[in-house]
This record gives sequence, C-alpha cells and structure tokens, in this order.
Amino acid sequence: MKTNLLFGIIANSKTRVRCVFCGVYIPKANKCIDQHINGTKHKENIDLMSENGISFHNDADILYCKPCDIYLPEHESVTKHIETDSHANWGAAMQDLVEGEFIRLNDYLSSKSDNAFCEVCQSEILCLLPNIEEHVNTLSHRGNIAERLKPLNGIFNCENDDEVWCKVCDGYITNSVSYILEHIDEDSQHMEWFMEIEDLIEDQDISLEKYLSNEFEKSAYCKKCNVDVICNVQSLEQHIHSESHINQLSVIELL
Ligand SMILES: [Zn+2]
Ligand SMILES: [Zn+2]
Ligand SMILES: [Zn+2]
Ligand SMILES: [Zn+2]
Ligand SMILES: [Zn+2]
Repeated sequence: MKTNLLFGIIANSKTRVRCVFCGVYIPKANKCIDQHINGTKHKENIDLMSENGISFHNDADILYCKPCDIYLPEHESVTKHIETDSHANWGAAMQDLVEGEFIRLNDYLSSKSDNAFCEVCQSEILCLLPNIEEHVNTLSHRGNIAERLKPLNGIFNCENDDEVWCKVCDGYITNSVSYILEHIDEDSQHMEWFMEIEDLIEDQDISLEKYLSNEFEKSAYCKKCNVDVICNVQSLEQHIHSESHINQLSVIELL
C-alpha cells in the first residue's frame, strides 16, 4: 500500500513507512504519519526542496535534484543533500553569477521550469552555470543592466551622445556601457554619496527615487510626513531630527 505520495511518505514494511523528504522511518499508524507531516522539520524540508531545485518523482519514489542532475540515494534527506559539496558549490557559484544581474531563479528552483528568467532582457535562459555565465557577459545584457541602473543612480543622457551626466557626482562619463557600469560599481565619489545618504535615511521611510530618476528634481521624498526634503546630507539630517518627523514616526510605531 502506498500512502500520501504528496507528502513524501512511502510504504516500507508491514510496520513502518518512510518519509523520503526527511529520510526517516515512521511507525505505520495514521496518528504517527499525521504528526510527522504536520511537524516543523517536515515542512522545512518541503520549503527547502522548492528553494533548491529538488523535486519528488512519484513513479520512482525518489528525490531528484535538478542543479546536481542526480537522483538522491535512498537515505539522503533533503537537508543532507543540500549540505553536500556538489550542491553547496553549485548554489554558491550560481549566487555569485546572478548577484546584481536581475536574474530570477524562483521557477527553476521550485522545479516549475528548466529556465532562469532575466528581468532586464525579458528572456529565459537555460539554467546551467555556463549558460548563465555566457548570458551575463553578453553585450546586450550589460547594456540592459546599464539602462536599468541609470535611473537608480542619477545618470542621465546628454544632448550629445558621447557622454552621460551623473547628477550625484555632477560629472560627465563617457557614454559606453562599460564606463557607466564602472562608474556605478567602482567610482569612489559616487559610492560614498550613496553610502552616506543611504546610511542616513535607513529605516526613515525616505525615498530617493524621484531625485535619482528625474534630472531636475532637487528633493527626496519623506513618505512618513508626505513632504519633499532637499536631497543633501544637511537637509536630510535636519528633517530626520525635526520634531514633526520624529512625532510622525512615533504615531506609526504606536499603530
Ligand atoms: Zn518528512
Ligand atoms: Zn543538488
Ligand atoms: Zn539579461
Ligand atoms: Zn556618479
Ligand atoms: Zn519625515
């Protein structure tokens, strides 16, 4: 008798069943099985499966890991597999590749698709390390990343096509994808401005969005007070320490 395939519980012997996800044996009694499938550990393992590309193959009563392209040995639980070198190395390499690249892995990791999805290119990529690596290095992807990052970084096109203007640094940059990305990722003045301002507005519900995406906008926006605040360190500091902003905070915290 096979029971509860959905929950990873399979028949083992006359007296016990096995949970494939957790790699444990359970006495063959409804009460014990119920208790197990409603337990925290079991639910955690189901979540881990959908975050790690591991799926249950009903017909063979076996777990399959897509990233590693292997069927898990009978006694290897989900948790145990995730800790293996092959799986952990894949995860680290993939994280490294997609970081900051606007590439979504959710559908792949929940075994809904074999593809990753690139948000900036609006395209699917077969989710293998070499394919992703190739994709993130293509000129068109780099170009799309630069376009996505410009309005988040206060960088604007100029009348002449040779340069773009950085509002944050009040300086011009050669209008090429590599110069723009280098400016965003490596220019010390540019990065320091962001670090200082972001530090200041952390947890203050102040948005830089319109300041950074509109060439002529002088202000950031405080969502708590519904007011514009001139976007420089001095004004932002003043606003954050003002009575009205502080009182606004406490009203919200009371709710
Ligand atoms: Zn289980
Ligand atoms: Zn794996
Ligand atoms: Zn892309
Ligand atoms: Zn800049
Ligand atoms: Zn405010």
